[in-house]
Amino acid sequence: MTKGQATVVKNAGSHFMLSELPEWNPFPAVLKGKVRLKNSDSTNPVAVGDRVIYEVPEDGTVDLMHPATISEVLDRKNWLVRKSTNLSRQSHVIAANIDMAYIIVSLYFPEIKLPFLDRILVSCEVYGVPVTIVMNKVDLYREEAAEYVEDFHRIYEGAGYRVIETSVKTGEGIDTLREDCKGKVCLFSGESGVGKSSLVNAIDPSLDAKVGRISTAHLQGKHTTSLYEMYRTEGGSYIIDTPGIRGFGLVSLKKEEIGLYFPEMLKAAQDCRFTPCTHTHEPGCAVKQAVEDGLISAERYNSYLGMLEEDSKFR
Ligand code: GDP
Ligand code: ZN
Repeated sequence: MTKGQATVVKNAGSHFMLSELPEWNPFPAVLKGKVRLKNSDSTNPVAVGDRVIYEVPEDGTVDLMHPATISEVLDRKNWLVRKSTNLSRQSHVIAANIDMAYIIVSLYFPEIKLPFLDRILVSCEVYGVPVTIVMNKVDLYREEAAEYVEDFHRIYEGAGYRVIETSVKTGEGIDTLREDCKGKVCLFSGESGVGKSSLVNAIDPSLDAKVGRISTAHLQGKHTTSLYEMYRTEGGSYIIDTPGIRGFGLVSLKKEEIGLYFPEMLKAAQDCRFTPCTHTHEPGCAVKQAVEDGLISAERYNSYLGMLEEDSKFR
């Protein structure tokens, strides 16, 4: 047997494709029966982006009839999960070892709901996934809604996030985005209609036929519950396509934990009189003070309160 290390680039249930990133040489693999599953509460212990040790027979060919075997899944630096409901125990790992999650939003068409975005950002913080917010379709509203655009930058850059403006229509920001994701394993996510597929295809037109169309076509008749796949662009980035982000904003957090995942609140909370502090009614709460002083945005604080309230509904 010879051993190697590779990254999972496709997960079709029980069959996988691996590639020795940064090289792009996808080859088939299956899980070895006794591979220890570390994440036993998830429905898929091996996810796209996982680094694995694989084995192939000495000078044996690897093809669909003779796939490599995955003998070990290496520790993840981060990952993202999806839950079907807030109460469900089982989670599904969407992807692992993500260098950058690009969360695509549009302020209008469809109109953005900031609390929804904040939930996704909290998820990314919980699992240690770096985020860039991509404000797409700016051609449609930057002039008409200049104030909101400015507010959006203030709110999210103030919270510590990077915001890139793009327009697939005018091409603005596309080079920046393409340059930014070079050499990275990236996840593009966003509510349906914000222009996710258009953006990915603008970055690399050769992906046109693939990304966003992974749902049914070549899966029919197979017992797979989901399929995630990584693509390499001509510019040398590795894009993970995820079918939607429903449920990806759901994390089970204790009340006193939620504030830890709003980076700007975490910072201010060092000066709260009490620990833990829910930043609601406590005297000497530095977070509430920072909101009053305009150092933390009212919008983000409201999202936080919403999450606290939501959380108590499930108790
Ligand atoms: P997805 O559901 O997020 O993948 O969104 P699509 O890429 O399918 O785009 C949804 C619609 O928005 C399509 O009609 C696109 O042509 C349009 N669209 C995407 N990006 C832009 C943009 O930057 N500006 C304008 N005006 N329309 C866009
Ligand atoms: Zn406080």
